[in-house]
Amino acid sequence: QPTLTVPDSPREINDLGQAFNELLLAQNQRLQHERQFISDASHELRTPIAAIRGNLSLIRRRRDAHPEVIPESLDFIDEESLRMQHLIENLLHLSRADRAKIELSDQDLSYLVLQLGEHYQPTLAPQLLQVNVDPNIHVKGNAEMLQQIVVALLDNAHKYSPDDQPITLSLHQTAQTIDLAIADHGEGIPDDQKNAVFQRFYRVDQSRSQAIEGSGLGLAIVQQLVALNQATIKITNNHPQGSIFTVSWQLSD
Ligand code: ADP
Repeated sequence: QPTLTVPDSPREINDLGQAFNELLLAQNQRLQHERQFISDASHELRTPIAAIRGNLSLIRRRRDAHPEVIPESLDFIDEESLRMQHLIENLLHLSRADRAKIELSDQDLSYLVLQLGEHYQPTLAPQLLQVNVDPNIHVKGNAEMLQQIVVALLDNAHKYSPDDQPITLSLHQTAQTIDLAIADHGEGIPDDQKNAVFQRFYRVDQSRSQAIEGSGLGLAIVQQLVALNQATIKITNNHPQGSIFTVSWQLSD
């Protein structure tokens, strides 16, 4: 039950005023964030819709005189509508995770990671996946979300590193932490953008990323899922090059 005490000194009145201002500022920032998100999401959705409408119009105009344009345009419409579907699914993930109150329970993370590594290798092929997992590591978490985190990070490692360089999936326990790491030998992420890549829609170097499919939502989702599973995530540089994404749980005693 909150209690309301009436301030009775100028200093207390001042403190209360300041606290109120801070609250307003935080509220404003949140609203601005939401507005930015909606505007970014609309912008991203507009591009595939424009491409789909453009190609439909092309089919209408040309179908009699040049029927050969039809298959190519249909392929394009197919691709763009799939891209839109992925984008919408990701947006839904984000908004669900925003509100999620999840049940955490004991998870055998070693087993979960080993299973994922095994099932995921064919998807990454010909790229090699090295799996290096300490046995019997348990965390409190949500199995589905933990899987989603690993798959998203493996997907990125695969997308942003060459096929002839292996990806490493590892799980280790130290005295203080449990560390789940996905390491690749791609181009890496510049230090000044290591935080930014977790922002919604952020992609490193648009020109580089543009050749690779993506919306810039994957890591924002991963960061939310990591927080919901009471862990943290950080990016470090791999040697001689590439990135390491490490999801860590602090051990309490
Ligand atoms: P997407 O891959 O859809 O663009 P993400 O949110 O998953 O979105 O990633 C954001 C950006 O971070 C990517 O566009 C890419 O520039 C960079 N990135 C993510 N993972 C890696 C990686 N393993 N190596 C290099 N860059 C990466």
